[in-house]
Amino acid sequence: MIDILTAAGAAFWRSAAYAMGRVRFAAVGMITIILGYGKAVRGETTPATVPLSVNYHFTRQCNYSCGFCFHTAKTSFVLPLDEAKRGLAMLAAEGMRKLNFSGGEPFIKDGGRFMGELIRYCKTELRRADISVSIVTNGSLIRESWMRRYGEHVDVLAVSCDSFDAETNRKIGRQQGARTDHVAKLNEVRGWCARYKIAFKINTVVNAYNLDESFAERIDYLRPVRWKVFQCLLLDGENAGEGALRDAGRFYVTGGKFEEFLRRHAGVKTLVPESNDTMRDSYLILDEYMRFLNCRNGKKEPSASLLDVGVRRVLRDSGFDERAFQERGGVYVWNKSRMPNDQLDW
Ligand code: SF4
Repeated sequence: MIDILTAAGAAFWRSAAYAMGRVRFAAVGMITIILGYGKAVRGETTPATVPLSVNYHFTRQCNYSCGFCFHTAKTSFVLPLDEAKRGLAMLAAEGMRKLNFSGGEPFIKDGGRFMGELIRYCKTELRRADISVSIVTNGSLIRESWMRRYGEHVDVLAVSCDSFDAETNRKIGRQQGARTDHVAKLNEVRGWCARYKIAFKINTVVNAYNLDESFAERIDYLRPVRWKVFQCLLLDGENAGEGALRDAGRFYVTGGKFEEFLRRHAGVKTLVPESNDTMRDSYLILDEYMRFLNCRNGKKEPSASLLDVGVRRVLRDSGFDERAFQERGGVYVWNKSRMPNDQLDW
């Protein structure tokens, strides 16, 4: 009986995801044609032709120690600011329209000033490229002075939250030292997002420790524009296998368990699910040397640096599947000035 219910649930989520994918795919087609990127949505499994949406992991350093982390502190390297700007200008010239800063923890470098200056550069000196800027952060190092200084340039700020229970966060490692109150900081950052006019988002990794938790009430209260819910992902050399700095095996949940979590939260209208299959190959991941990381073989294999050989050359080695990106709904309203009013607090 349980198997029948699980299979029915899986079928429901597959058809829902398919239906959503079709709607998004049609919207993407229109946007792409309007922007003159016709090539971006044609064909079957396709490599990237345009680096439309780039995730720049400019540092691997982090003040937290999440046990399932799949972008770990294997180096402490960060590019000089001018080199990072040069790389972003190259990406903008090739069609980048969304830039997501991630890590590691992006606020760890110079108290966020390094990232802040890159954001300001994108929104002022590269403004003709009309780049939308987002950040994924654990939130713990954000100061209000940073929001006051750079907030106007940030479209979306996503804070990672895997639990509203302090003990679960401790077990996951989503904390720095015993006195961190991750949930209190999440609430504070959420308030700053409203004050400084930044769209607020929450990212959650479903894992063995939070699988049975109910998030609906707290998510509805916090009103993120998106609640992105990921299935815990294992990547060789990062959080599994030889050379890894983490062993995330004890955090992993199967696809069936993940779908069960999604079914329990189906009433949360901002929920955007991402299973391991959906995630795989659908992100353009740029590392601290501005190399694209190819995950096709279940591990991160770096290209050359785009600073050395150019964007077009490294796109070929990125492992990025443009069709998978479109089908997971990778294109949506990225810019806060174009978001529907009922999603925002100002
Ligand atoms: S907050 Fe956790 S998952 Fe994110 S980079 Fe730090 S250790 Fe990794």
